[in-house]
Formats: sequence, C-alpha cells, structure tokens
Amino acid sequence: MRNWEKYIRKVEPYVPGEQPKDVNVVKLNTNENPYPPTPKALEAVAAFDIDRLRLYPDPEASVLIEAISNRYNINKNQIFVGVGSDDVISMCFMTFFNSDKPVLFPDISYSFYSVWADVHKVKYETVALDENFNIIPETFYKENGGIIFPNPNAPTALYMELDKVEDIIRHNQDSVVIIDEAYIDFGGKSAIDFVNKYDNVIVVQTYSKSHSMAGVRIGFAFGSPELIKALNDVKFSFNSYTMNAYSLICGVAAMEDEDYFNAVVSKIINTRETAKSKLKELGFSFPDSKANFIFAKHESVPAKVIFDKLKQRGIYVRYFNKEKIDNYLRISIGTDEQMEKLYAALKEII
Ligand code: PMP
Repeated sequence: MRNWEKYIRKVEPYVPGEQPKDVNVVKLNTNENPYPPTPKALEAVAAFDIDRLRLYPDPEASVLIEAISNRYNINKNQIFVGVGSDDVISMCFMTFFNSDKPVLFPDISYSFYSVWADVHKVKYETVALDENFNIIPETFYKENGGIIFPNPNAPTALYMELDKVEDIIRHNQDSVVIIDEAYIDFGGKSAIDFVNKYDNVIVVQTYSKSHSMAGVRIGFAFGSPELIKALNDVKFSFNSYTMNAYSLICGVAAMEDEDYFNAVVSKIINTRETAKSKLKELGFSFPDSKANFIFAKHESVPAKVIFDKLKQRGIYVRYFNKEKIDNYLRISIGTDEQMEKLYAALKEII
C-alpha cells in the first residue's frame, strides 16, 4: 500500500442505471421521460447569443427562479436551484444534517441517500416500511438529526397521502424534514404548501422526469426563507456558478410551457394505467404506482431471468440485486409503442 492511500476517503459508490450507447434500445431502466422536452426550449437555445458564453452565468439563476416563482406562486426567496435534484439534496445534507443524532430515511428508498450520508459524514438510520412497502409515519417519531423521504417513494412508486406527510412534519419540528418529490407530477399532491406552514420543511423537485430534461440537470427546492438562505450560503461556498447558461434558458422555457407539460404528463399517466392492467394479466403484482414507473414482481418467473431475457431483446428495465427487493423489477413508463414491445417480449419470456 502506498502511503497516501490511507488519506483517501472510501465510500460505497452509488451505482447509476445503465446508459446504453445504442439509441435503438427500449430504455425503461432509469425513469427518464420518453417524450422530448418542449420545442420552446430548442427555440430558446437557437435564439441564445453565443457571445454570452464568454461570461459566467448568473450565479443567482434569477431568470429560472423567477419562472419557478410565477409557476408555483411562491416567493423567490423561498426557492433554491441546483444541478439536478441530486445536487440539491447533496446541498441539503451539507446544510441541514449536522447533528450527532442520526438522519432517518426509509430502508427501501432512493439509494443515493446513504451514499450522501457517507460522503458528507452524516450519521443515519433507516426505518422499516410495512409489509406492503408503505412508509409508516410513526417510525419517524424518534430523536433524529433530520429526515428525508421521497414521495412517491422510489423504487416502490408508492405515494403517501399529505395528511401522513404532515404527521411526520408535526412530530419533527426540531429537525429539518426533506420531502423528495422527484415523481410528484405523475399523480400525487405536492407538499409545497407546508413550506409556508412549517419553517423546517424542504420540498425538492426536478426537471429530469416530468419536464423531460434529465440531460439539462436542474433540480429545485422550496422552503422557508431562512432555510433557503442557509442553502444558498452553502451553495455559494461550494459550487457557485454551476447552473450553466443553457440550463437556465431551457429551464425557463419548460416552466413557462404549462400546456406542453400537462399534455406529456397525462400521456404518461394514461400509459401507466394501461400498463397496470397489462402487467397484471401477465402475472405481475406491484404496489400501486403514482410515479412514471412500476415496481413489479412476477408470480413465477424470477426477476433476474426476466431482466436478462428482456435485455437480450434490447429492452432495458432495472433490476436491484438487493435484500428485500431482489425479486422485483422497476419498469419505467415509455411511449405506448415502447410498452407494446415490452408486453410482446414478456409474452415470449413468461
Ligand atoms: N430523487 C429520487 C427519488 C430519484 O429517483 C432521482 C432520480 N434518480 C433523483 C432524486 C435525482 O434526480 P435528478 O438529479 O436527475 O434531478
């Protein structure tokens, strides 16, 4: 071993979903949106004066904050933006989770949380879901240094009603409660109003799913002015200027084109509802999804077998080789055409 090796931080790295180079595959493995972003984003990019790339972008991302403020009818000093919600959540870990007490999150949840906890040296404990994968609010009623959970949860796709979310908040007013709403636009109700009722709540959303802009990298958060100021102080100390000029204008265009947004989201919801009956007919069971994916298990064929055979046919879904969920597949909702290919392949395999 070389001497410097002992100074290196060792973390269990996050393993992202596969991004195959072949664009012809049916890609249902990373919960991206199968439809393109609003054409208004392309118009905005085409109209952009390239000379402005000489300059640093606005560190405060004012145009984007303004567009988000108008759309959600919330004050600008209650909005934070970052490079994808991954970045926003990472900033939240740095800013809000600085206690000796453990941060709590569900044991089956977005697997990045434990990675950030390790990277930012934050103590954490996981809380168990019930046997049907529901989050149990009472499991969060204990001393903690902060709370984070997705709603709908990932990878289960299960949505928790807002009265239960509020129960968790009410019982935890001495720590910051973060609600990760990456998938909220596909049928759930946002907890955004709680940020005006409770000063310890952060609601995080993203452009990556409902806005078809995973490649643009924009995440945003709502909170009390005090929490948002604290986040900005940390952000400007670590990664000032990271919202790039193109992301800003694409983000504004998408936020302003509400009709396009609504049309895409309702197409995905319709396709998901059809997928529920098709998958049931094929012998799958799953928690009810309010997200753009379904977390499904087959009654007789192991998930790994289905995963491998779909991949051989150029259809990518996600398989988690993990305790408690190792017989499940997470299937993102694609276009109707992509889903037909999936059903046809499943009929051959099962
Ligand atoms: N939260 C959850 C629950 C997610 O599934 C994802 C997507 N992998 C993210 C946050 C991060 O999304 P992004 O960084 O693309 O905004």
